Amino acid sequence: MQRGYIKRVLAHCFDPDNRWLSLPCAAAALMVLLVLFKSHEGIAYNYSNECRIYKLGYTIDEARAMASVLNDQQVDSLVARQEHDTIATAVINARYFIPANFDRYLAYHKKDTAERPVGDIISLVNIGADGYDSPSPCDTSKGYLMLVNGRHYLDENYTPDSLAMFSKSYCYEEQRALPVVVDAFMAMQQACKEQTAAQLMVNSAHRSFQQQISMHKRSAKGYAAHAGYSEHQTGLAIDVTSREHPMRWPFDKSEECAWMHAHCHEYGFILRYPKRQSLIFGFAYEPWHLRYVGKEVARRIHDEDITFDEYYAYYIKPHAQAQGR
Ligand SMILES: [Zn+2]
Repeated sequence: MQRGYIKRVLAHCFDPDNRWLSLPCAAAALMVLLVLFKSHEGIAYNYSNECRIYKLGYTIDEARAMASVLNDQQVDSLVARQEHDTIATAVINARYFIPANFDRYLAYHKKDTAERPVGDIISLVNIGADGYDSPSPCDTSKGYLMLVNGRHYLDENYTPDSLAMFSKSYCYEEQRALPVVVDAFMAMQQACKEQTAAQLMVNSAHRSFQQQISMHKRSAKGYAAHAGYSEHQTGLAIDVTSREHPMRWPFDKSEECAWMHAHCHEYGFILRYPKRQSLIFGFAYEPWHLRYVGKEVARRIHDEDITFDEYYAYYIKPHAQAQGR
């Protein structure tokens, strides 16, 4: 009954035949709307995400930029924490920023005592070095772009589809890898020989899960990866030195090693554990360890000067694709 009454009053107020009443009613309704959604220094309306972020102490431009990349849930948690973090805007403007990782970047920054630059925090979180994810099985469906590292492992049954042998002239003992890797190595060593006169050699290539177990047992603590966590099980990794410098460390100072680092991407290889990244991620520098990823990806990783882990996090993981990269 009350409902019917309100309906009748409203119908009466907004009846076009009662102009003297409908106009003030419309004006009053507009006033109510203006109060509810009061404009905030150029920001759309009071309850918009950009306004809620702005009220945390960010500038209008910062709030707008953050609202454009964060989802409602992220804004809710930012507002709930009443958090104004000085690096938040630097984070969203950083190269390789992944919106889904926003909270983790801020959390890492908060506990970071080393005062790392924003770019390093982005890298560390993207590759999972913030300890957020527990180790998970390697997604072998990615083929020669599969990621094996300390957080992505292969099980004991994984073996590459096919393995080809390296010619005896290019290794000290029998070595195998995926056929595409053997071909790429042959092309690379040919060019290296022509340009440096040195002969590249494969020290180690495919290693089975079982071989990795015994290698890990034999090696000094922390030197060889645990079985399942070594790229060598994929058949995509090779350890390279040269006939002239067969030992790994003198090899790293050689002309052929410098040539290999500068040119391996032209053959589809990347230096998997480069020196600069070892400073950020803390893994050991391995000037001899190459990983096959194909020419296109190798060029990109080389040109952008990133690791494969970073490449994978940004360009290959599903959330990256969802953003249309
Ligand atoms: Zn290796």
